[in-house]
Amino acid sequence: MSRSTNLNTVLRSSQGYELSRKTLQLMEQHGVWPTPENFEIWQTYAHGENLALKGAIDKLIEQNTPFTDDVCSDLAESYGSQGKMSRQIMETGGAISQHLSTVLETIEGAGRDTVAYGEALQGASGELRNADAKEVKTIIERLAHATQEMEARAESLEERLQAQTQEATKLRVNLEQVRQEAMTDALSGLPNRRQFDEKFDPLIKEAHESGAPLCVFLTDIDHFKKFNDTWGHQTGDQVIRFVASCLKTLNKGARLAARYGGEEFVVVLPDTALEDAQQVAENVRKAVMSKKLMRRTSGEDLGTVTISIGVAQLKRDETPAKVLERADEYLYQAKRSGRNRVVGEPSRQANVA
Ligand code: GH3
Ligand code: MG
Ligand code: MG
Repeated sequence: MSRSTNLNTVLRSSQGYELSRKTLQLMEQHGVWPTPENFEIWQTYAHGENLALKGAIDKLIEQNTPFTDDVCSDLAESYGSQGKMSRQIMETGGAISQHLSTVLETIEGAGRDTVAYGEALQGASGELRNADAKEVKTIIERLAHATQEMEARAESLEERLQAQTQEATKLRVNLEQVRQEAMTDALSGLPNRRQFDEKFDPLIKEAHESGAPLCVFLTDIDHFKKFNDTWGHQTGDQVIRFVASCLKTLNKGARLAARYGGEEFVVVLPDTALEDAQQVAENVRKAVMSKKLMRRTSGEDLGTVTISIGVAQLKRDETPAKVLERADEYLYQAKRSGRNRVVGEPSRQANVA
């Protein structure tokens, strides 16, 4: 099959025509062979939601790395649905289900032993009613033997259950590690968008129910494209890690700071009114701008970076999406009015640097 026929086949069979078209254009542009695995990776890239994948591909493009079969299969291995994470989840899931079967078998076996012992006791009690002295002795000997056997079985059952409890604990720790990895942004170590989405809705619901104030702020690194263009993507990554480190301290209690998009972060401050939230944002802004950055590899002076922040306080009955949208509007205003500033509700004066 020729390359273009192959492309057309994939194109026709794909959902989301525009996204698929964009995906295929990107693949052609970078000389990626349109296999289903590659298509999945590049469609995720075109969608832009998986920041780790986006960062990895952007880096390869920037470094002019050819997308050879090896490079593509590395990407599929790390980021594809058949990749490492899914396999880890599948493997741990499989081990858990096998473990559960063993536990169930053990419990069933123990149940059968108990029934058999009960039957032995019941039979003996019937026989005892009409037994003479000699028969009583035989029955008692039989019962003593059955009791000894039952004791031995109970002991071995306890040992097996102990071993199985240890196995279950190991599996639980494994699963928790995989879950944590899947919910954490690999570059910054902050919660990723998936974790944010999972935690944000309940926080909003709680605030509506309790009537306590809640604020959200969105922050975005200023002129980051220029920084990347000047110093390279890898040094840009170092800046993302640095800004994340300024936000990490906020991840305490119900507070939630996460990587929201490429160079954008989101912070949720429950039980916090607008003025206090603006102060928190202001502190973060100052912390970021006051650090003199240095290139780790060469020690070169990189100057400083700044961030802009938009803060919104949740209104009565407001949806999670709407409050984020407002924070984004204020962020946009902060950018438009000169960057390196915090902007809150429109009636307030922006806190200028
Ligand atoms: P503004 O002040 O208006 O925000 O300008 P900007 O240049 O920061 O904004 P723009 O949206 O034009 O560019 C954002 C840049 O962020 C482009 C993209 O390459 C970069 N970026 C996104 N994610 C990452 C990442 O994970 N690592 C690096 N190094 N750069 C990233
Ligand atoms: Mg920016
Ligand atoms: Mg941005």
